[in-house]
This record gives sequence, C-alpha cells and structure tokens, in this order.
Amino acid sequence: MIDQDSKILLEVRGLCATVNNSEILKGIDLTIKSGEIHAIMGTNGSGKSTLAKVLAGHTDYEITGGTVDFEGKNLFDLAPEERARAGIFLGFQYPIEIPGVANNQFLRLAFNTAQVQQNKDELDPLEFDDLVREKMKLLEMNPDFLDRSVNENFSGGEKKRNEILQMSLLDPKIAILDETDSGLDIDALRIVSNGVNQLANKDNATILVTHYQRMLNYIVPDYVHVMESGRIVKTGGKQLALDLEKHGYDWVTIEKTAAVGA
Ligand code: ADP
Ligand code: MG
Repeated sequence: MIDQDSKILLEVRGLCATVNNSEILKGIDLTIKSGEIHAIMGTNGSGKSTLAKVLAGHTDYEITGGTVDFEGKNLFDLAPEERARAGIFLGFQYPIEIPGVANNQFLRLAFNTAQVQQNKDELDPLEFDDLVREKMKLLEMNPDFLDRSVNENFSGGEKKRNEILQMSLLDPKIAILDETDSGLDIDALRIVSNGVNQLANKDNATILVTHYQRMLNYIVPDYVHVMESGRIVKTGGKQLALDLEKHGYDWVTIEKTAAVGA
C-alpha cells in the first residue's frame, strides 16, 4: 500500500528509555508513513512492548534520549490521553479488566471523546448501539458482550476482539497492536486480522508487534523490523518474517556476527 502521496506520521530517532533505572530501549530509529503496515518482531524481552508503551505514553518509562515526532510535532509534549485523542491507539498485550463498568458505556464514552476531538457529532446511546452492533458483526462478536463489564471474565481471545472493536470505533491514525495474535485460535486470528485489514487505509498506519509469523499470513506488512536487546537489528520486507520463522531468531544474530567478522 506504499504510495507517492504518503506522509510521515511517526518519526523515531535514537530513542532510549529506561524503567527502574535499567536501560531497555537503546537507540531506536523508525519511520512510519501513512498507508504502511509495519511488523515489529523479536525474542521475548527484546523491548517490543516497551517501545509500544513508550509511544503510547506509559508513565513507568523514562525517556533518556532521542526524539519522536508525531505528524511533525514532539510526541513527548503530549500526555498519554492527549496522544490517544490525537489518534494513537495501543492495543495491549494484556488488556485490563474494568469490573463494574459496562462495555457499551465504556466504548461509547471513548467513541464520543474521539468524536468531539475531531469536531464530529457525539452519538446518543441508541445511535451508538446501532453503530457498535454493526462493528461487532464484522468481528463476529456476540452483542451480549456489550452488557458485560469491560473485559471481565472475557477469555484471552475475547479480550483481543474487544480491543479491535475499540480500535474500529476510534479509527486511529496509528494503531499499535501488541501481540494481538497471542491467545487467538485460528478462526479468531482470521476474524481479528480481517478487522485490522479493513481499518488500514492510505491515511493511517498499523504497527503489529508480534513474536510469531502467523498473523502476517493474514495482515501483510510492508516492513518487518527485528528487535534485539532494545535495538532494531534488521529491517526487511514481508519475506524477512518467513525467513525468521524458518531459521529462528538466532539466525539474525549469527548473520550479524558473521557480517562484522567479514
Ligand atoms: P518484549 O515485549 O519484547 O517481550 P518487553 O518490552 O516487555 O519485551 O521487556 C523488555 C525488557 O524490559 C525485559 O527484560 C523486561 O524484563 C524489562 N522490563 C519491562 N518492563 C519492566 C518493568 N516495569 N520493570 C523492570 N523491567 C522491565
Ligand atoms: Mg511484549
């Protein structure tokens, strides 16, 4: 989906971040343009979720170096909720449960907040109900989930679908999906992937954080980045994910070592 009219949405330069005084991100460079789908892959503990959370503005992390521009402005000038309102969406690896808050109320509040931000009309409960049910159909979700507390006692796969439902209502500029594929059976994976594909267009961008190749059979990335110890050590096209699947993550390290030795 790369085209000439695409513009830079996110520009990450030399990003370093620490948590509890230990350095996790050690100089990340990443340019994301509109219309693009990027996959960020890597072994457990390589810093994928940290990168996602730093971009979303998670307060546990301290930025110790580098810059991030979002649509040409300093991202770090925006509080987490301002980033969300400006169109950065983070689908969590472990979605939180909010007991006592009905899913439909939560979704409508989130939706209307985004509408106000974009100078669009808010929807009343009845209008919103029509919209959300239509979106749920695409994700093959039972409408019963509207009356339940947010994510409470949802299965892993149901939580992930609920995240994508939220995303489809918010229509973000940049969707960062952290391990959305984990805990999904093959049918749910297909349905969730369809949902993500339907939302991707020439004006927005998607960052898929994943350990495994399998979701990339359904959502085809323009770029694949491999993280290791807080750095992006390799970038390629969709073929890179297939190579990783075949050879394992060690292969990137071995290849790199060989290149240095040569
Ligand atoms: P990935 O998502 O690639 O598996 P993470 O970003 O979750 O990796 O973690 C990267 C490293 O940072 C790991 O070694 C992890 O233990 C460490 N880390 C992440 N969050 C914290 C935290 N809140 N406190 C201490 N260490 C953390
Ligand atoms: Mg992670």
